[in-house]
Amino acid sequence: MLRLSGIRQRYGAKQVLALDRFAAAAGEHWLVLGASGSGKTTLLNLIAGLLAPSEGEIAVGGQILAMLEGAALDRWRGRNVGIVPQKLHLVSSLSVLDNLLLAPYLAGLSSDKARAASLLEKLNLKENSKAKPHQLSHGQAQRVAVARAVMNRPKLLLADEPTANLDDAHCEQALDLLQDQAGECGATLIVATHDQRAKARFDKRLELGA
Ligand code: ADP
Ligand code: MG
Repeated sequence: MLRLSGIRQRYGAKQVLALDRFAAAAGEHWLVLGASGSGKTTLLNLIAGLLAPSEGEIAVGGQILAMLEGAALDRWRGRNVGIVPQKLHLVSSLSVLDNLLLAPYLAGLSSDKARAASLLEKLNLKENSKAKPHQLSHGQAQRVAVARAVMNRPKLLLADEPTANLDDAHCEQALDLLQDQAGECGATLIVATHDQRAKARFDKRLELGA
């Protein structure tokens, strides 16, 4: 469902990523491992269509990303890709519930309060529904970010350094959450991290800068 070929990414004269072939099937869970600066965030941005590659082609679910631009690309991303950024980027002025409802709104989908309510319940956030992001613990905020990412039942779920600064128990919880939610949507999951603790949980691994 995801296929990259002949990818090169340069910033100015500096090449930061070279990936000749990468493919992930529907529902697979992949770990992208690499030291800081190896291009993990760049790769996730390319796959999400947030960045166009200097060279090469990316296709997600049969859609060649280079064929889309502007509002059509944004709508495609909103409907097909869930993103949990390293800095969670919750909207600080909106409640937890409204952060979730923003996902279908931005993707041009009809509002789905029942889906939001069921995610909040499942992720143990029911009591926090009216809270603003700054009132949440890190773990709660991360659960909100995952809930927002899966609101539209994406085919692809991307998470950038989801275990950064977490102790071992919370590291396991964060990865459980992503794997459970990807499983519920039947989504392909791609977790980018420099955290070796995540390694044991993923049999599909891509090492960057190796
Ligand atoms: P990682 O997520 O593995 O730490 P990144 O993808 O963030 O790696 O960055 C890879 C390299 O590309 C780094 O050397 C970084 O400084 C550089 N880089 C990332 N984004 C930009 C940008 N927008 N402009 C210039 N250089 C960048
Ligand atoms: Mg990064």
